[in-house]
Order: sequence, then C-alpha cells, then structure tokens
Amino acid sequence: MRKTVLYIVVPCYNEEEVLPVTCDLFLGKLNQLIGEGKIGDDSRVLYVDDGSRDRTWAIICDLARRDPHFMGIQQSRNRGHQNAVLAGLMEAMDRCDAAISIDCDGQDDVNAMDGMIDAYHDGCEIVYGVRASRDTDTFFKRFTAEGYYKLLAFMGADVVFNHADYRLMSSRALREFSKFKEVNLFLRGMVPLVGFKSTCVSYDRRERQAGKSHYPLSKMLKLAFDGITSLSVKPIRMITVTGLIIFLLSLIGILWSVITALCGRSVPGWASTACIVFLMGGLQALFMGVIGEYIGKIYLETKGRPRYIISARTEDEEKPDDDRT
Ligand code: UDP
Ligand code: MG
Repeated sequence: MRKTVLYIVVPCYNEEEVLPVTCDLFLGKLNQLIGEGKIGDDSRVLYVDDGSRDRTWAIICDLARRDPHFMGIQQSRNRGHQNAVLAGLMEAMDRCDAAISIDCDGQDDVNAMDGMIDAYHDGCEIVYGVRASRDTDTFFKRFTAEGYYKLLAFMGADVVFNHADYRLMSSRALREFSKFKEVNLFLRGMVPLVGFKSTCVSYDRRERQAGKSHYPLSKMLKLAFDGITSLSVKPIRMITVTGLIIFLLSLIGILWSVITALCGRSVPGWASTACIVFLMGGLQALFMGVIGEYIGKIYLETKGRPRYIISARTEDEEKPDDDRT
C-alpha cells in the first residue's frame, strides 16, 4: 500500500532567529514518522516565507539544499499569518495526502502530530490541535483568548475551543476548503464549515523558542474582529434589536412629554434633551461603524483579489517569477 504523504506547512515572518532552532524539531518528527512507517519518505516540511525582510528566505533555501525533506515557497510580500498558512496549504493540496499547519516558533508541541496521523489513519479528515493548558501564556492573553472563544460561540460561530491554527487536514478536506473563496480569512472558523469526520488532539503549548511574537495586541484585535464579522451577522441583528428597543422607549418619551406639555407642566429640559441627542448620536455612530465593517468586507470580497502570490519556490529557483494565485 502506498504510504501517506504528509506535508508540514510552516508560515514564517522575520524568523531568522527561530528557524535554525526549530528546523531540527520538524525534520526530526518527520524522520521519526517515516521510520515508523506511518508516512512515506516523500513527505516534506514546507516553509512559507511571508515576505520577510530578514534572512528567513535565505535560511529556507539553505535548508532545502541541505535536506530534500525541506522545501519552501516565498510570498511576494507580507500578507499576514492566515494568508501564509492558506498559501502553504494550497501548495501542498495536490502533492500530499494530509497537511499539518504549525507555527515555526516551536510553541506548538510537534509530538501531537503522532496523534494527528493516527486519527487520520482512523478515517478523520480534519484533526484539530487543542491546547490542554495555557500555563505559558500571560494572564492577559489567557483571559482575553478564552473570553474571545466564548464570545465567538455566543455569536453563533462554530469554532473549536482553544484551537488555533495547528491542525491536520486531508487532501480531500483541503480540496473542499479551496472552494471557499473569501479574502477575509479566519481559518479556524472556516475549517469547521468543511465538515467531514474530525477529532481533536490535545497538547501543551510552550514558550517561543527564540525571536519574538509578531502578534501585537493590535493584530490580535484585528484577527478577533475579523473572526466575529466574517463568521457571524449576529452583531448586525443585535444592532437592529437595540435600535428597536430605543425607538420604542423614545415613543414612550414622546408620549410623556406631550402629556406633560398638555397639562401645562413642561419644564425647561435642556439637560435631558442634550443627553438624548448625545446618546442617539453616539449610538448611531457606533452602529454605523459596525454596519460599515460588514460593507467594507463585502467591498473586499467583491474585488476577488488573489489571497496570496507566490514569488519563488525552493524547488525551481531558476524561475523566480513564476507567479501563481
Ligand atoms: N507569521 C506570518 N506572518 C505574519 C505574522 C506571523 O507568517 O505577518 C507567522 C510567524 O512566523 C509564526 C506564526 O505566524 O510562525 C505565529 O506568529 P507568532 O508566533 O508571532 O504569534 P503568537 O504565537 O505570538 O500569537
Ligand atoms: Mg508564536
């Protein structure tokens, strides 16, 4: 029987410090799985250079020369983690039987891959890596992250609790996933929509092995907001309901003021009027902002721009201009 071809997809952005440290981790795991006969020798570690400005791409090219199990693609510019993972998965789709996406900083335990491959052999098309604990995270990160997963669930988005982007997808699941054409990517919310038999494998998340995080609070907030607005229209509905309630309340207010005026007891009510004007102005601005967010998303989606552009591949370096979308 032909052995499973596994591609480990690793996005990297300015990771010259961490790549030399974690490359042995990935290669070691690949070789171990090959040795155990769980995967074939044509399995690969596929690095995606997300338009790094440091030596990341040079290191990836070195690795590819050093060991045939390493390969890489380079994005024409920095597009963000989600697009980099997508580029890698789409590159792997037609070459592999299963692909595992994992960050390059060694925070996610590579040993969870054994369980993922076993689950794949048991017929699972998608295997989610789920963090058993968040001990290595700061209190702030843990608190906001867990609160965020709960908020997403409340908004009706189907996400796996404490799962980020460490997951196995079979080539069949990837092919179905490639039909999702949206440009606002929130992979962990989109992948469950593919369906098929799936399961979870838990692991402990560690400290970053070297270098520093590229997810400052601003990027995290953007991802969080993208996640909610690309998966759920509930915020818009909540706005409609709130607007309705405020409208009904103001009807009562109008009735009340007419009655007091008719009774000749109207008082100079500057303060209350001003408060209402401010309140309404504020609410309207807020609501229009949220609706505008969705309209902005529609705008981007209708353009249908490519979600990634590959500018080079380690395997055909002599043709660096081979663009593929
Ligand atoms: N990353 C990327 N493009 C970016 C930012 C990050 O490909 O624009 C990669 C990065 O190299 C790493 C992964 O995404 O492999 C996760 O990033 P990081 O470790 O900085 O985030 P954190 O784990 O702190 O949330
Ligand atoms: Mg990290």
